[in-house]
Formats: sequence, structure tokens, C-alpha cells
Amino acid sequence: MTGSLQQSRRLIIKMGSALLVDEENGTIHHARLKGLAEDVAALRAGGSEVMIVTSGAIAVGRRYLGLAEGALKLEEKQAAAACGQIRLAHAYQQALAGHDITVAQILLTIDDTEERRRYLNARNTINTLLAAGAVPVINENDTVATAEIRFGDNDRLAARVAAMMSADTLLLLSNIDGLYSADPSRDANAEWIPRVEAITPEIEAMAGAAVSADASGGMATKIAAARIAMAAGCHMVIAKGDLDRPVAALEAGARSTWFVPKATPRAARKQWIAGSLQPRGTLTIDAGAKAALVAGRSLLPAGVSAVEGDFQRGEAVTVKDAAGSLLGRGLSAYSAADARRIKGHKTGEIEAILGYRGRDAIIHRDDLVLEESS
Ligand code: GLU
Repeated sequence: MTGSLQQSRRLIIKMGSALLVDEENGTIHHARLKGLAEDVAALRAGGSEVMIVTSGAIAVGRRYLGLAEGALKLEEKQAAAACGQIRLAHAYQQALAGHDITVAQILLTIDDTEERRRYLNARNTINTLLAAGAVPVINENDTVATAEIRFGDNDRLAARVAAMMSADTLLLLSNIDGLYSADPSRDANAEWIPRVEAITPEIEAMAGAAVSADASGGMATKIAAARIAMAAGCHMVIAKGDLDRPVAALEAGARSTWFVPKATPRAARKQWIAGSLQPRGTLTIDAGAKAALVAGRSLLPAGVSAVEGDFQRGEAVTVKDAAGSLLGRGLSAYSAADARRIKGHKTGEIEAILGYRGRDAIIHRDDLVLEESS
């Protein structure tokens, strides 16, 4: 897939601050959100699930706190974001309500997309919202994000969400219509690059010097986002958002740059589970469960006969059969302690044993990779 959003089944649109805030008076640019809402409604009518990653909380909030122009300190940014986010979320709610679309606010920090247990929670919540037909409106949780756990820029946040949600396309809307061989505002010979298949040192060089720690946006963060998205099998598009209907314009052939991954999101996720995670334990399963896994189903607690190791919910475990042969790897939906208590039991008994109703499967089939030979 390249060049068309219509084939996208799961799409993330990232809106930059400059698009959302009216420069003249610092208020929310409602007309722009109205146009975006039309685009979102059209994409959904075409069968796409849509999520929005939005910036703008700090830019909107600062005027309500009377914060002077110029650079803000971290705590001032956090205060401004707290004040702006509520207004921003409301503006999306209003704009999308015009199309009978429900929005849901999600605020994330880096930990929520990296730490295994929280990653599964965020992924499940967002999947549940999408299944219920809502549009998640996502921003960084600026209030609690300290220097160490900040994304700092929503380009990378959007790419991490794309990876976490196995999105097939990430559309970065800003005031830049693509990647150029040099900065087009300074160099008349700058050439537009329509398609990128790998982030080479040459591409990095085009993006210019890395932005400083507190700066957000710019081409460097977009290339960093492309690297994350492509590794997750997600296409990324850089296109102009300061238009009435940016997605419609893109579909009509407006200039953009497409970053094209080698794998699909599903294959990339399986590779991540199989290759990058260190297994923390082992589940031994019976013959019935083995047959179910080979048939493409999830691993239920009833089929688990032994649990070894010490792992948290969301961490990787290996799966073995009764003879000790390696069957595969997956992300456990339960900690080792809880897995020991529910092993051999029916899914319907989980709540009575643990005191809470967790997931039906110990390893969901989307979180499982089998060895080639199994
Ligand atoms: N989370 C910040 C905000 O909403 C935006 C960060 C960025 O612009 O990339 O204001």
C-alpha cells in the first residue's frame, strides 16, 4: 500500500500544535477541527478505524494562565497543558459530535507504551474503544510526565501508539508537505522526496540536525517517528494539515512523502515478540491446548499444566509441550503468581480464584508466535 489512505484499515492522524491554535489570539482553531471531523467521518465510512494524536494543549492553555510569550519552564508547560487539554478534548468532542462520533480521551507517557503491563492495558483499552466505534483522542500526559518519562514531542508519541496499536498508517499533519533533500525555505534547489523505503544516513542528513531536548516538531522528530513506525510495519505520511480537508486534499493528490515499511504490522509485531523480548518464564501446556494453538487459537488457563519463572503481566514467556519441546513464545496476560493459581482451571473460574475478572486467555493469539515446526 502506498499513496492512498483509502486502503488503510487502522489509521492514526497526528495534528500538530500550529494547526490547532489560531496564531492571532491563541484560541482553538474550530474551523480546522470541523474540516478534520469531515475527513475522519469519510475515512470511517470507508471502513477505517481512526485514532487522533493531538498536540496543542500547552499552546491553548498558556493564555488562560497568563503565561508570558516565549519559552516556558517544564512545570509551566505542564500547568498550561492541564489547562489546555480539557479545552482541546472538548473541541474534538464538539467537532466529531457533528458526525455522531463519540470521542474518548487517552493521555499517555512513554512508560505506558514501553512497560509491558501498562502497554497491554493501554492497548486493550484503545482496542475496546475502537470496537465500540469511538475515536480515541490521544495526547501525552504532560501533567505527570517528568523529564525522564516524557516523549517531548507528539510525532514520536504517535509512532509509538501506531506500533502499540498495530496501525497500518500514520499520517503526520503539520505545516510541511513532505521531506525535502534540504530545507526548502532556505534552499531553492531542495528536492521533494515522494517515497522513502529505508531510513538511511542520507535521509537522516536531509532532516537536519537533531532538535534540542525541549523542542518539539521539525523534520528530525518526524524521521525518528518514521523509524519507529516502519519497524512496526506501519506506513507513515508527512502531509500539510493547514487546509480545509487535509485528508481529502491528500487523496486528491496533494504533495506528501510516504514512508513505506517492509513488513505488515502483524508480521512486525510477531517478530518483536519472537526476537526482541527476553522470556521471563515458561508455560507447559497439554496436548489439547497444543492442538488449539496450532489451529490458531489462544492459550486458555485450562490447558496450562505448569508455570515456571517469575514474570509480570505483559512479559514474554516461552511455551512448551508436555515433552518439553519448545512450541513458541507469547506475552502473558497474567503474572506468574496468578498464572500458577489459575492453571488447569476453566476461564469461567478465573474471577472466583483471583478475585478479579482478567482476560479469558493466558496468551491471546495476537500475542503468540509459534515455532516454525509446531
Ligand atoms: N503534548 C504537547 C501539547 O499538547 C505537544 C507536544 C508536541 O507538540 O509535539 O501541547
